[in-house]
Amino acid sequence: MAVVVVLACVVAVVAGYALGRRRALAGQPLAGEAAGEPVPAAALDAALDALLTGIVILDADETVLWTNPAADAMRVVRAGRLAAPALAQLARRARREEAPLHDDLELSGGRDVHAVHVVASAAPGGRHVALLLDDTTDARRVDAVRRDFVANVSHELKTPVGAMSLLAEAIQGCGDDPVSVRRFADRMLVESGRLSRLVQELIDLSRLQGAEPMRTADSVLVSAILSEAVDRTRLAAAASDIEVVARVDDAALAVRGDDRQLATAVANLLDNAVAYSPVRTRVAVTARRHGDEVEVAVTDQGIGISPADRDRVFERFYRVDPARSRETGGTGLGLAIVKHIATNHGGRVDVWSVEGTGSTFTLTLPASVVPEPVKEGVAT
Ligand code: ADP
Repeated sequence: MAVVVVLACVVAVVAGYALGRRRALAGQPLAGEAAGEPVPAAALDAALDALLTGIVILDADETVLWTNPAADAMRVVRAGRLAAPALAQLARRARREEAPLHDDLELSGGRDVHAVHVVASAAPGGRHVALLLDDTTDARRVDAVRRDFVANVSHELKTPVGAMSLLAEAIQGCGDDPVSVRRFADRMLVESGRLSRLVQELIDLSRLQGAEPMRTADSVLVSAILSEAVDRTRLAAAASDIEVVARVDDAALAVRGDDRQLATAVANLLDNAVAYSPVRTRVAVTARRHGDEVEVAVTDQGIGISPADRDRVFERFYRVDPARSRETGGTGLGLAIVKHIATNHGGRVDVWSVEGTGSTFTLTLPASVVPEPVKEGVAT
């Protein structure tokens, strides 16, 4: 009912407005306005121009009488008529049925296809029809991404949970064989570790995604961030006999931010550098000032990433080689977390890579403008 009233008002005001605009500009009241002060034409102009909803007013012969800028941007009118047959059909039905009609349509405007929610309503008397168009393309995309994410999470959770229940059954079946029991129990530990890492990273990611960009934060020494990150990677690096070297150009180099998050970002890059490198290679993490920014670069001599995969590795759950990622305990969320941490700190993360030679991931952050006071260490 509210839609009917609003639409009737819009049609009446806009049609009257379009037709009687000259009169209004001459200082006379507009058709359809409320009693009291006349609505200045300039105020209506401003309101209709600023509206994100596209409005198209049709005359009885289906010629377009009036459009607002939002409708113009959607390119739904061509040569004074509705460009899309589906829109014209909806307008005709609304005129016939004398009731507002809703529909979701896909309209092509230039090279793009837009998803649009349309409300069509005839003004009393049936001469004019108003079409209200809301572009729902972004909302639909967000919906699709959300659905994909939920599907991915469910799949990722199912794998370790399924493995654990199979292993539990296996243990039940070999109770009198202590060697097998131990072997299966060890595998269960690996799977439960994977599960808790995945859940923890999902929690981290959802916190980071909802976070506002940081405006005020402490200054943190970059050397402290690096040594904490190297510490966290030490075990994995030692297991592959990979040497991790860290170098900071200037010991006083500092950035503003959350020390734990920044250490996580660098540790994720180091973890990957180790995970995707052959044994007995070198991984280097360096930090230097470049203008107003600090660049932290993690370089490996690993398998590298193809140009096609380079843009995608920051997507949640994207892995170049899912089997290898699982083998190394990867969750597919590490780089998505790095990207969010960089963005929340007003920075960015870039990748350079040559397949078969190695990769460099560079985390660029605004340098701290106030060097003092700085935190000495990183809270763990
Ligand atoms: P994962 O947990 O699978 O490592 P990430 O989000 O950290 O997830 O990385 C996504 C994918 O990017 C990895 O699965 C891997 O294919 C690729 N990748 C990340 N870092 C490197 C690297 N240093 N060298 C080669 N490939 C990498």
